[in-house]
Amino acid sequence: MSQSLITPPQTPLLGLSLAELTEWVQQQEQPAYRGKQLHQWIYQKGAKSLSEITVFSKKWRETIGEFPIGRSVIHYRSVATDATVKYLLKLVDGNIIETVGIPSQKRLTVCVSSQVGCPMACDFCATGKGGFTRNLEAYEIIDQVLTVQEDFGRRVSHIVFMGMGEPLLNTKNVLAAVRSINQDVGIGQRCITISTVGIPDRIRQLAKHKLQVTLAVSLHGSNQRLREHLVPSARTYPLADLIADCREYVNLTKRRISFEYILLAGFNDLPDHAKELSKKLRGFQCHVNLIPYNPISEVDYQRPTGEQIKAFVNALEQGNIAVSVRYSRGLEADAACGQLRASQVTDGLALKN
Ligand code: SAH
Repeated sequence: MSQSLITPPQTPLLGLSLAELTEWVQQQEQPAYRGKQLHQWIYQKGAKSLSEITVFSKKWRETIGEFPIGRSVIHYRSVATDATVKYLLKLVDGNIIETVGIPSQKRLTVCVSSQVGCPMACDFCATGKGGFTRNLEAYEIIDQVLTVQEDFGRRVSHIVFMGMGEPLLNTKNVLAAVRSINQDVGIGQRCITISTVGIPDRIRQLAKHKLQVTLAVSLHGSNQRLREHLVPSARTYPLADLIADCREYVNLTKRRISFEYILLAGFNDLPDHAKELSKKLRGFQCHVNLIPYNPISEVDYQRPTGEQIKAFVNALEQGNIAVSVRYSRGLEADAACGQLRASQVTDGLALKN
């Protein structure tokens, strides 16, 4: 058998816990305390390569200097007038993903991607129109948080898995990333939201981990027919089953679920739809987050007017449902919910709509 000339790819260090990093330095015949230093340089000081870790001896740095930490490169950056920043990050294999930094006075929220593209093909979503390439590794998710933190020069306080991709199709890596973002980067689980369109069995599986993260479920339709039209995967995961799994999730985790509901004028935003929805969610520890449609070029849905939105909110409130409206940030940077796509990116040049 001929020997392979290709060196096996090295697993990057980002995502390893303090104990794992300590084990790694010991394998390199270094004292255990180097593990703590490495952890601090990777997660707090944002080292991009081991050769910049000046507390390590020059000799050791020369040996390990090429070993990957797992950081991406900012390929393109655009800032909206509301200070939301959209990043296109270039991964080691050349794929491009999107990440959004959303600042407010008290918070810095990062909207992270969990996949390159998305296979769910929801009718109104730009990411879905571009198809699916691959799952992200845990380190590629954590890197997004560190990149935004460094670029803003302030601590990230909140994470939402609402960028490209369906997190529950990449549960293993998403959970590994959540562990590290929580324990290594230091962001509280309660400040992390995982948004899913719903994948059979996965919500029940997630419940078993008893995490303190918030689960957001994208409903978008008040009945099966309407939802199926917007979310193709609903055909094999009926609304009734999804809601039953969500009830189970609340029972097991004692955490309130947040339901996301896109508002498409004249399509799913009539007060009757709100009434239908509030009936389905009766007696449920939940919250409904309405997202007025952010236009994409491939479909001709309309965003409802302020009055239409208000009528929908009132109808839900009359049904005793806790409700809020998410006026997406970053619209003109194409960074709002559902506007993320990498297809406009040609090598070395990012084009906007
Ligand atoms: N796959 C996950 C994350 C998707 S993005 C999920 O489906 O939940 C987060 C939210 O933005 C989802 O609720 C998604 O349906 C919504 N969204 C997608 N396209 C949108 C658009 N054009 N306008 C408003 N919201 C959109």
